[in-house]
Amino acid sequence: MSEVTMEKIVSLAKRRGFVYPGSEIYGGFSGFWDYGPLGIALKRNIENLWWRMFVENRDDMFGIDAAIFMQKQAWEASGHVKGFSDPMVECKKCKKRFRADQVGDACPECGGNFGEVRQFNMMFKMHVGATEDESAVSYLRPETAGGIFVNFKNIIDSFHPKLPFGIAQIGKAFRNEIAPRDFIFRVREMEQMEIEYFVRPDEWERWFVAWREEIFMFFEAIGVARDFIHESEIGDGDRAHYSKRTIDFEYDFPFGRKELCGLAYRTDFDLSAHAKASGVDLSVVVNDVTGEKVIPHVIEPSFGVDRAILALLASVYTEDTLGDETRVYLKFNPIVAPIKAAVFPLLKNKPELVAKAREVYTELKKTVPQIMWDDNGNIGKRYRRQDEIGTPVCITIDFQTLEDDTVTIRNRDTGVQERVSTSLLSKHVLA
Ligand code: ATP
Repeated sequence: MSEVTMEKIVSLAKRRGFVYPGSEIYGGFSGFWDYGPLGIALKRNIENLWWRMFVENRDDMFGIDAAIFMQKQAWEASGHVKGFSDPMVECKKCKKRFRADQVGDACPECGGNFGEVRQFNMMFKMHVGATEDESAVSYLRPETAGGIFVNFKNIIDSFHPKLPFGIAQIGKAFRNEIAPRDFIFRVREMEQMEIEYFVRPDEWERWFVAWREEIFMFFEAIGVARDFIHESEIGDGDRAHYSKRTIDFEYDFPFGRKELCGLAYRTDFDLSAHAKASGVDLSVVVNDVTGEKVIPHVIEPSFGVDRAILALLASVYTEDTLGDETRVYLKFNPIVAPIKAAVFPLLKNKPELVAKAREVYTELKKTVPQIMWDDNGNIGKRYRRQDEIGTPVCITIDFQTLEDDTVTIRNRDTGVQERVSTSLLSKHVLA
């Protein structure tokens, strides 16, 4: 079994339409990547599964989609204007800048010496509206969580939930990373899936433990190998400014063991800070008899979609020999596979086969929209192409189909084919 390398993943992702370099015809743009047709299908499948698991399948969760921009006071209150920074060093000789915790003592480019370590704020600073003065300043959000905290009171007022309950959001976040790297691992524009789970202060430990398990269950559901995920308890000096306990979930990426997602106990830091800065009461009643109120504490599972996709690609990338041919295939769980099935007429130049195949395709597409038509090249080549994008099954319409309405279904992982009646096709594909 040969090794899964970043080169192989990046090259397949581009060749087959998963992920392209941003602004590629202008030479690329560091830290920005564009998702192609298969990439966006994969991304949506992952996000939909997350939403189903954590929002729709639960009674204690509220989904929102907040604006990316917020009043700058919100980012001042949350501590991001002051504290959302990475340590940076600049080479005295070539002037290149690096993240201080990612380089040694000398410049990796020219060997020069570094100046003092400085803090570099990673929020993109913007001006909203037609004036460019300080009053118009706002920021592209560096995490989606902010939009959740400022909507806490809205959810309480509209739905009157009791603790514990959560608010979930999927959306873009932006960080002006000093050194974007490793494909979609460290980017400047990313997608996050975040939950703020509000609990009674004395119950935080219990919910922290519960969410640890939920995180593993999510990765298992999308098909990221559990053996490759490791928990890492973050020490006192290294946690984000708002956190009293953090576990990083790290994945064994081809370039090393690095953070895949995080679980943080944010205490009442954010709600208290927003209550103070806005003057709005963000406490909730926890005892109807005594009227006792508390500011809820928060457990935050925070998932990066791009990192989840990269971990998944690395998990499912497989090279093997089938028959006497070597092949590359993506061993996606059907639930996340961008294409669930491909439909082929055995021969392209037989109108009756093509017409029947079209009929099967059109019928199947009504229940399984993520399917693909392919009549290019011979069957072997079509199988290889579908294997490479991780399509779980290929359906071939042949002469026997015209007689008895059965088709062959070929399994991606084993190469084994079986004959199935067209009436049972969608059941087979969705199984
Ligand atoms: P790192 O230490 O790798 O910079 P972080 O600890 O700053 O990450 P968090 O603030 O915990 O990351 O963000 C939550 C999640 O968002 C991360 O676990 C990761 O999945 C994702 N994420 C954060 N920064 C990036 C980035 N620059 N590119 C892609 N995903 C990111």
